[in-house]
Amino acid sequence: MKTVLQVGPMIPAEWIEAHGFRARAAVPAAAPDAQMGQCAWAHAVAVLAEKGGGGDNLVVAASCDQMRRAMANPSVAGKEGVFLMSLPATWQTPASRRLYEGELRRLGRFLVSRGGLMPTPERLRQAMRRCASRRRRVAGGRTCPPGKIPLALVGGPWLENQRAILERIQFHGGWVALDGMENGERSCPAPFDEKGMRQNPFRELARAYFDVVPDVFRRPNDRLFDWLGENCEKRGVRGVLVIRQVWCDLWHAETPRIRDCAGAPLLDLDLAAEGLTPGGRTDARLQAFLETLR
Ligand code: SF4
Repeated sequence: MKTVLQVGPMIPAEWIEAHGFRARAAVPAAAPDAQMGQCAWAHAVAVLAEKGGGGDNLVVAASCDQMRRAMANPSVAGKEGVFLMSLPATWQTPASRRLYEGELRRLGRFLVSRGGLMPTPERLRQAMRRCASRRRRVAGGRTCPPGKIPLALVGGPWLENQRAILERIQFHGGWVALDGMENGERSCPAPFDEKGMRQNPFRELARAYFDVVPDVFRRPNDRLFDWLGENCEKRGVRGVLVIRQVWCDLWHAETPRIRDCAGAPLLDLDLAAEGLTPGGRTDARLQAFLETLR
């Protein structure tokens, strides 16, 4: 089975699977030669797109100017096997939902052009049930081990080499109780409604993603703060880590508001492309933050 790599929020894995592909979130490592002021993530994705997805098909949902600019580079634009999906920033009008549904249908045509199957409603329903059951399995059994400090992570996407921070969190006595990063539980759709699935699975899929997934780029973005406040309380979170790319203005601008709504102390970590070195400056800040929470 061929693989489709996904970059960005609100790309339904169900829709990809219903076309006969395996869906997987892309996690590129930092690419060399990022310019000053350029988001390291957008740059790494553009480099992956230049290589045509490295052998897999690549679907990129652009939700910010940095990503749109990176994907408009002549060495990337129109590359075979790469699909750029537009996400409307507003969500409260029927027109913006129609735009999103239109983009999903355009994605479907791209997948068929890449050798995929036309999905029948039943095929889509089966993919929705499969993905929902996978998510339930992943979500189960989250109990903070004794002696560890429950933390929430919140932010956008992160590079493969930046994920070393997960190991450092554990090392310093923290535990991830809430994953609000892109591709974490924040990006999950609402549970599917059986009646909606029977009547029109495509509509139900679009509803579960478009009407529900909170993100920083969506205007207004109050849902992100509601989601965070509610889940921090539910999971007993004692500290919040905002993890963002150095040149990401979207997450940087919202950090003060996240601080206000989280109801717990917050550490703002802007990660350089090379990630985190044990004993380095970022690691020391993380350690000091966890010490204050003991
Ligand atoms: S991390 Fe920020 S700047 Fe980079 S692509 Fe995502 S939203 Fe855009």
